[in-house]
Amino acid sequence: MCERKYICKIISNIIVIILVAGIMTYLSGCGKKQVDTANMADTSINDSQLVEDKVSSQSMQSEDNSQTMSEEETESEPEDQTEETENTETSQDSESEASSNQKENVSSGGTSSSEIEDSQDNGDNNAPEDNSDSGSQSDDNRITICIDPGHGGSNEGTKETYDGSLIKEKNITMAISRKLKYYLEQNDNIRVVMTRNSDSDVSLSGRIDYAASNNADYVISVHINSKSQDVIDASGCMVLMSCSRYQPANARFGSIYDREKSLAYSILSRLNSIGIPIANDTWNPDEYQDGILQRVNTADELYPDGSMADYYGLINEGTRAGVPTIIVEHAFLSNAGDYRNYLSSDAQLDALARADAAGILDVVLR
Ligand SMILES: [Zn+2]
Repeated sequence: MCERKYICKIISNIIVIILVAGIMTYLSGCGKKQVDTANMADTSINDSQLVEDKVSSQSMQSEDNSQTMSEEETESEPEDQTEETENTETSQDSESEASSNQKENVSSGGTSSSEIEDSQDNGDNNAPEDNSDSGSQSDDNRITICIDPGHGGSNEGTKETYDGSLIKEKNITMAISRKLKYYLEQNDNIRVVMTRNSDSDVSLSGRIDYAASNNADYVISVHINSKSQDVIDASGCMVLMSCSRYQPANARFGSIYDREKSLAYSILSRLNSIGIPIANDTWNPDEYQDGILQRVNTADELYPDGSMADYYGLINEGTRAGVPTIIVEHAFLSNAGDYRNYLSSDAQLDALARADAAGILDVVLR
């Protein structure tokens, strides 16, 4: 009886040991499973993030391609809508760009602010030369494009009041320029510098000096137009370029003039393709054709090669510096239709910048 009891105790002890061992094995298995599950969860989160990153990077890339590569090159000249007239007065905005010996004052408007001003006027008043784009990258092989946001500081450009807000050219030009910089920089072969990054005064010669000192290959000056008179309700886009084929010794290209003309046609074509007509304001047809204005200096100023110098100060300075320099007048702020269709929302200004970028890249990457 005692022996049986002893055997029973041994058997029950063995059963307990087996049970305990089984439970421990089960528990350890569960723990491992939990860890694995946690790892799997981690991995799946990381994967989904990667997928998201990939998708967004692909969509950005395709967005970039669509603006730079997929659109066909359109070199055809824009439709000629020039109206012949004896009146040779230029727009208010263009007058503000006249070379120093012909410069006229531009009247100023009210002081109320607009949404665009609010979003663009918050910059400090640092000198343009302080801007961070002036890095020492000029020794690389990239093409350097100097974007010049027209006006700035006390030079506000043209102004109009819409819906109770005073809209200032200097703020619109900065908004377009920043977007243009972004779109151009999506291309690895392009380096962009800006003549101003804040609401600051910069002289016309200071802008070209800045471009030249940064080894700019091109200067693209961003502007918004204003009608020259009340006879017609001027609207649309135009580009100002040099009237002379003068080539200084340090010219960046074999023909600055030809480069400017290619840029002008290319940008006008792109602006045209988003619905903006070629400007119909009244200029001397000898100076204005197909949306391109080439205005001769009326003070008998000559370039060193004896050709008539340019009327517009920025272009005059750009030509003397040997850098292709154009002024893009995107639309007329003085025209309510132009304002509402092309200048009154962030998306509209973005479309202008995309058109500019595509037009520029079509030429400079060629
Ligand atoms: Zn302007």
